[in-house]
Amino acid sequence: MALQYKQCKYCGTIFQSTGGNECPRCMKDREEKFTIIKEYLYKNQGASVAEISNETGIEEKLILHFLRDGRLEMVVADGSLACEKCGAPIKSGRLCRKCSESLSRALGSVLPKQSKPAPQKKASYGLKSDRSDGLHVDISKRK
Ligand SMILES: [Zn+2]
Ligand SMILES: [Zn+2]
Repeated sequence: MALQYKQCKYCGTIFQSTGGNECPRCMKDREEKFTIIKEYLYKNQGASVAEISNETGIEEKLILHFLRDGRLEMVVADGSLACEKCGAPIKSGRLCRKCSESLSRALGSVLPKQSKPAPQKKASYGLKSDRSDGLHVDISKRK
């Protein structure tokens, strides 16, 4: 793979990239922070993003970034991370299960957004046969 010169999206340094947009220093820095968060979470299961940030000194933005990446997962969806589509609290990733399911459905097939309800049967009172009691129900409904 040919090396490219790229500008790091975090610190702006020009570096030789093998594909990423992040310089080796930032990548290392981020991995170190990730390790710190992970270790903190081992000891403090269920800590909120704000707690992690306070205790480790790591910006909430970065913690959320790891959550969005799916590298971290919350024990309880406390609302720190929300589905990008419907805003439901999620533990990891970008979408809640409902939205990601409907998204993959939408991508997988060309279904109309709203399926039409089945046409209402008019003879829903038992008028399908010549049974007199069915007829009777229908008449009483007209009153
Ligand atoms: Zn950098
Ligand atoms: Zn959703």
